Amino acid sequence: MKRFNEGLEKGSIMLVDTTLRDGEQTAGVVFSNREKLRIAKMLDHVGVHQIEAGIPVMGGDEKEAIRQIASLGLQASIMAWNRANVNDVRHSLDCGVDAVAVSISSSDIHIKHKLRTSREWVLENMTKAVEYAKNEGVYVSVNAEDASRTELDFLIRFAREAQAAGADRLRYCDTIGVLEPFRTYEVIGRIIDATGMEIEMHTHNDFGMATANALAGIKAGARFIGVTVNGLGERAGNAALEEVAMALKFVYGMNLGMNTKDFLNLCEYVARASGRTLYPGKPIVGSNTFAHESGIHADGVLKFPGTYEIFSPEEVGAQRQIIIGKHSGSKAVKMKFVEYGIDLSNEEANDI
Ligand code: MN
Repeated sequence: MKRFNEGLEKGSIMLVDTTLRDGEQTAGVVFSNREKLRIAKMLDHVGVHQIEAGIPVMGGDEKEAIRQIASLGLQASIMAWNRANVNDVRHSLDCGVDAVAVSISSSDIHIKHKLRTSREWVLENMTKAVEYAKNEGVYVSVNAEDASRTELDFLIRFAREAQAAGADRLRYCDTIGVLEPFRTYEVIGRIIDATGMEIEMHTHNDFGMATANALAGIKAGARFIGVTVNGLGERAGNAALEEVAMALKFVYGMNLGMNTKDFLNLCEYVARASGRTLYPGKPIVGSNTFAHESGIHADGVLKFPGTYEIFSPEEVGAQRQIIIGKHSGSKAVKMKFVEYGIDLSNEEANDI
């Protein structure tokens, strides 16, 4: 069996896509098994490092899809999601995945009002499930659900006990999306200093900061980012794969060597399969991302695209569009007529 750990180079950043798990948990979204297999192949093709494929204990079609994805022989590691109990993990192992997520709430609000139990019970069940999975030889991500509302001392204790049980990384879940980048940077730094553990950022977009918080975690030393295509996911969604990958490349100067040229294809396919249309202003892949209308912008882009574009549309498989409208200038009008084989004089262009 392949070992996810072996692919980890020092200093490298790994993308963990959870479109098929958290993405499908979006209210009203469901993928067919055929769509899941196709999405998994496309994710592997663009170069995602790990694919969280679903929740095997749900059984039926869900379990069958995960089993099929695990047997495709993809480059990416295939992870299955579990609550922190041995029975869930057994279902994951049935599917032949090489990695499991073991998830349990760490915040007092969840422990008291959802689980209706104690911190000790949480630690005990997390430890049992992790030890069982590690004995079976799979890679283990321990998910601290609602980590961002967990008392830091307890979260560090949780991480240490996960580490002692053999966990390979801690998924820091901003389950309800309350983080902001400066606090993220500080908290992630403190967890890494205290434990030396590998951290995965799992951020939600409730205040529009999922991508920013994920990147703040990376700056603090986290090496894994949980993402979904189009930012699909619970409520306002997760950090978007295409945003995180392109921001790493063009804002942070970290090239993960992904096939970004297929991002638009992937995003459009997932938009169709999920029934969630890409809105025009969607960062990276929205139809407006490379559309220019105002005279000053269109003129600048026609002379030198770098004046108003941070990267070229071809980087993500898109095309530049000069839109003719109320704000157009004469240069754009002339250029548009050239597309139809008509050469306008300056005067004609101005009249139009
Ligand atoms: Mn989530």
